[in-house]
Amino acid sequence: MIENRDAKLVEDILRLKEQRKAIILAHNYQLGEVQDIADFVGDSLELSQKAAGTDAEVIVFCGVHFMAETASILCPAKTVLLPDINAGCPMANMVTAEKLRERKRELPGVTVVCYVNSTAEVKAESDICCTSANAVKVIESLDDKEILFVPDQYLGYYVSTRTGRKMHLWPGFCPTHIRIRPEDISRLKREYPQAKVIVHPECRPEVTALADEVLSTGGICRFAKQTEATEIIVGTEIGIIHRLRKENPGKKFIPASEQAVCPNMKLITLEKILWSLEEMAPEVKVSEETRLKAKAAVDKMLEIGR
Ligand code: SF4
Repeated sequence: MIENRDAKLVEDILRLKEQRKAIILAHNYQLGEVQDIADFVGDSLELSQKAAGTDAEVIVFCGVHFMAETASILCPAKTVLLPDINAGCPMANMVTAEKLRERKRELPGVTVVCYVNSTAEVKAESDICCTSANAVKVIESLDDKEILFVPDQYLGYYVSTRTGRKMHLWPGFCPTHIRIRPEDISRLKREYPQAKVIVHPECRPEVTALADEVLSTGGICRFAKQTEATEIIVGTEIGIIHRLRKENPGKKFIPASEQAVCPNMKLITLEKILWSLEEMAPEVKVSEETRLKAKAAVDKMLEIGR
């Protein structure tokens, strides 16, 4: 019965998607059924690149608010829909444009690098953007000036250890990734001694220190395909396990913590996607003044690539 209901929902979404000339983009942390209906599933960088390159007229963004904003920054002529407008990112909200301006006044001449997990207003106050996939490359591309990294202190710290660059770190964090504890990894390593451990750089340093690889979600998906290991402990939001199992049926993926669930990512459902396409709402649109400033920071990042 439930399967019939889902099949009907999927059919209606696909029909309406065609009529609206829409593309559905989904983040790796989305619910399995949402990933399955998407035209493209990826990490923040891959999704921004896809949004920038699509000729669809409507982008249904299955992710959180800052991601839909990034699509709007890159594609002002397109309608960007976020099926649940309450799908925010607590980490992104840990820095505001006003607080960032204050900090810039305290650090005159500083280069501001903002993680893509930030609002459009914060991007507009930044010199260059980065994602967890290209943060090391972005920092390496900068000259010797002081760097202020916002908002994720753990990604910032990880990148500073990889590049040797000292940075001022904003005290933000992802409430989902900090739920992954070093003792979770140690216990699973004892249970699965042959397993490779891959974690996201939003995890705490005590966790990244125990990993074989520290990767963005896109990097985790590529690693999972290429590695010869058949058991992999995955330290990131558990939505990614759906994709990993689907793409690598012969391998075993073990979530580092069942607690690593982002409730905002789970707000997007098939029903809301259908409703969103029917109503052409909720739309996310960034004001032109903010968009142009934010776009300069995003474009600089896209020039650097992965
Ligand atoms: S997983 Fe963390 S960083 Fe990603 S959207 Fe959720 S709260 Fe934000």
